[in-house]
Amino acid sequence: MTPDPVVAAAIALVVGLCVGSFLNVVVHRLPKMMEREWRAQCAELRGEAVPDENPPRYTLAVPRSACPECGHRIGALENIPIVSWLLLRGACSGCRKPIPIRYPLVEALGGLLAAYAVWRFGPTWKGAAACVLLWTLVALTFIDFDTQLLPDNLTLPLLWAGLVANLFGVFAPLQDAVVGAIAGYLALWVVYWLFRLIRGKEGMGYGDFKLLGALGAWLGWQMLPLIVLLSSVVGAFIGISLMVFKGRDHNIPLAFGPYLAIAGAIALFFGPTIIKGWYL
Ligand SMILES: [Zn+2]
Repeated sequence: MTPDPVVAAAIALVVGLCVGSFLNVVVHRLPKMMEREWRAQCAELRGEAVPDENPPRYTLAVPRSACPECGHRIGALENIPIVSWLLLRGACSGCRKPIPIRYPLVEALGGLLAAYAVWRFGPTWKGAAACVLLWTLVALTFIDFDTQLLPDNLTLPLLWAGLVANLFGVFAPLQDAVVGAIAGYLALWVVYWLFRLIRGKEGMGYGDFKLLGALGAWLGWQMLPLIVLLSSVVGAFIGISLMVFKGRDHNIPLAFGPYLAIAGAIALFFGPTIIKGWYL
């Protein structure tokens, strides 16, 4: 028996909200975990003792979440996606310092994207795989926005997951997926080196190549031109909005990752339709 599509989407919404709550942790902690690892590796290379860190263990699970202002431990009741933020009226119950709206926003994104994916693709392997792709793209978008980094710990598993999904042809035939992974990486690699040769500086990071490679692995090489085109449209749109609403600021380093990620999500849902439209 197949479940009712509305019920399936509602379940996906609830699961997605909880995953969104976890994505907040990933976005906040993963860059800090990477920095710690780098510090430890640098010290090791210089033959120094690994620096003491506070807290000594810092992973996605430990220590428990706390308010960065006052250290107030966030209990289970204060950790309900969106609801808690609304009940607390967007402030820490310990020190009343505001909790950024970004937290409920990431939760809402996790929930709504999952609900839409399951609505579109059904309560199927395709729907579930689409959720995994979208959640990872949300985490990458916010991490890159904050730090200009696209962690290998996310982009590389994402690439492999896309190839595995397409081993069963979930989104594209396996051949298209493998070619997509290679072509996605190489396309930006070439742009990077041309840019470096001509302008003498780096226009993007290696993470961007890996992300486009991952999107190629998920959606097949046919989607790559569309993704690159969409990412420049999204980039121009966001760049102009920022200029209009926040005033022009050349000091903000431009991250390309969020545009690629948003373009990938659009291509996941609407790519086949858009491409069909092109040929007609
Ligand atoms: Zn607090």
